[in-house]
Amino acid sequence: MPELPEVTVILDDIRSLAAGKEVFRAEVFREDVSNAGVKEFPRRLVGRTLQGVERRGKILMLDFGDVVGVVHLVISGRVERLSEWREPDKEHTAVIEFESGPESGPVVLAFKKLWLGYFDLYEPGHIEEHPLISRLGPDPFSREFSPEYLRSVFERKAAIKGLLLDQSVVAGLGNIYVDEVLFAAKVHPTRKANTLDSEEIKAVYSASRDILGRAIEMRGTTFDSYHDAFGESGKFQYQLKVFARDGESCYVCGTEIQKLRVAGRGTHVCPTCQPS
Ligand SMILES: [Zn+2]
Repeated sequence: MPELPEVTVILDDIRSLAAGKEVFRAEVFREDVSNAGVKEFPRRLVGRTLQGVERRGKILMLDFGDVVGVVHLVISGRVERLSEWREPDKEHTAVIEFESGPESGPVVLAFKKLWLGYFDLYEPGHIEEHPLISRLGPDPFSREFSPEYLRSVFERKAAIKGLLLDQSVVAGLGNIYVDEVLFAAKVHPTRKANTLDSEEIKAVYSASRDILGRAIEMRGTTFDSYHDAFGESGKFQYQLKVFARDGESCYVCGTEIQKLRVAGRGTHVCPTCQPS
């Protein structure tokens, strides 16, 4: 599933390919791909210019002036540049063609496999009514995200991993990066959040920013479906210390990495570096 770094990379690609360009054609495959429906989707987008892009948690926001595209990729969704227009189908669930530039051909972007996701259209003033966006916690790169903020949300008995996965606590983290953050902070994922001391809270804070920042620089993590808009894989999978390394040796202490289930998710931990 694309998490904060992958969504950041995809948005950067969309910005570099299509910002400032007018929509020439836009279609969705089925009614359930967009809240606008099959007929309204083109009517509301064609002729508008992509003015900018923004990320809210793992959600892509495409600013078309009087209309904002709210795109959630969920698990299988991808964005890919196509060489030419094609009608949407089961694989290419939404397709947008932007005008040709003087030095480039048309830019066609396919929003693929939005089976659980969507490409909704909102009016700019109504974004906060979106059920997912209204509940998002602070972004890890925002000023509100601080050790003090984490201390306040960690005053609960819940497992630390479950809290960090909760988008209303922190926006943008998912299973891969939470495992990596907790390993870097030397905190076991089943620890109750209210048992973390100040140093551990600071370590979780710093590791979140550090790991997400490095993952963006390496253009994300590719296991199966994630690729950037040019079809290229990310490179951060080579930097992972625990995720998907169960049965292998910890790079720090040599102990075998274990896989557990925490908060309903496969969870990777070094039992020595992260005592429970
Ligand atoms: Zn270790």
